Amino acid sequence: MDYKIVIDSGHGGIDSGATGNGIIEKDKTLQISKYIYDRLNKLGIPVTMTRIDDETLDPTDRVNRILNAYGNTPNVIVVSNHINAGGGDGAEVLYALRNSDKLSNLILENMKAAGQNVRGAFQRRLPRDPSKDYYFIHRNTGRTEPIIVEYGFLDSKGDDVNQLKNNYEALAEATVKGILEYIGYNYTPPATDSYVVKQGDTLYSISKKLGVSVDELKTLNNLTSNALRVGQTLLIPTNNVIEDTYIVKQGDTLYSISRMTGISIDDIRRINNLDSDILSIGQVILLKDNNMDSNYVEYVVKKGDNLYSISKIYGITQKELMEINNLKSNMLSIGQVLLVPSNGIESTTYIVKPGDTLYQIARNYNTTVDNLKNKNNLTSNTLSIGQLLII
Ligand SMILES: [Zn+2]
Repeated sequence: MDYKIVIDSGHGGIDSGATGNGIIEKDKTLQISKYIYDRLNKLGIPVTMTRIDDETLDPTDRVNRILNAYGNTPNVIVVSNHINAGGGDGAEVLYALRNSDKLSNLILENMKAAGQNVRGAFQRRLPRDPSKDYYFIHRNTGRTEPIIVEYGFLDSKGDDVNQLKNNYEALAEATVKGILEYIGYNYTPPATDSYVVKQGDTLYSISKKLGVSVDELKTLNNLTSNALRVGQTLLIPTNNVIEDTYIVKQGDTLYSISRMTGISIDDIRRINNLDSDILSIGQVILLKDNNMDSNYVEYVVKKGDNLYSISKIYGITQKELMEINNLKSNMLSIGQVLLVPSNGIESTTYIVKPGDTLYQIARNYNTTVDNLKNKNNLTSNTLSIGQLLII
């Protein structure tokens, strides 16, 4: 059967879901959902998401998006991601009355292999009409195959909080593996996790090659400059989604967060526009400057160019141009690729095709959904086929 996957991030917008111990359900489910989306998308499996940012979705909207994604047919698998609360420990999967527990149990087996406790696969019936499912995501989703995956309890007395904070990629990967086994797709683990720097590499060229951002590379490797050594081993994300926010807990200081994340205090202040060093519990700290990559574009050195002439074109100083590109001398060679600021340069446009989502387009152009929405004055995430977007 030709399966299609809809990833549903539980809650969103004004509905935070469960919160506690520095975990906000709507944010964690989105993180997990993006991970699963990226993995399946890279494998070429048709996949989409019900929400791609912090959007409020009522049950009707959610169900409509699910049914409109690929149609109301049994080959559509709906994975609704949630974080549990109530003091238990471990993962569980809830499946619809019309389906078997096969998919749920495959996911749970992989969850167990990833180090998470497993509570089991369950169905739940509506008390006033036990012929119907209790959860709307099962009850109102027609002939599709919906599951609710609960990755753990954010108020667990066991190790769930640690699992959800520090091992969520492995838990999300368990869902990926379970889905692939269920649909009969050969499982391949996520991409390699280290890269050895070769002659001529720059952080930018590596980021292009591997599909990760320069910032991610710097964060992961605690790099304070763009300088690389030939033979140096860089860590690269096992998937493109990395933890890019931190929620302030009791006792945290900028210093402790900087130690924990490997990001300098100055960078944390800059990325978050902090005017003071006082943090409040629950405050969300961005660990990644989402605008960084979109600020630069490539310029290929032509005959007759020199650092001065190029810097003039882009309205920066020669020194800035050298810093951006980590150049040690003034020598340029024809064909050499330099990074230059993107402002002032003609924008790229993109015409929306069937099946496109803002999230997908943002990923393809190495930008963010928010950037796209701002540039195009979009108030919602809805796109229409043929719509012209400025990238
Ligand atoms: Zn939930």
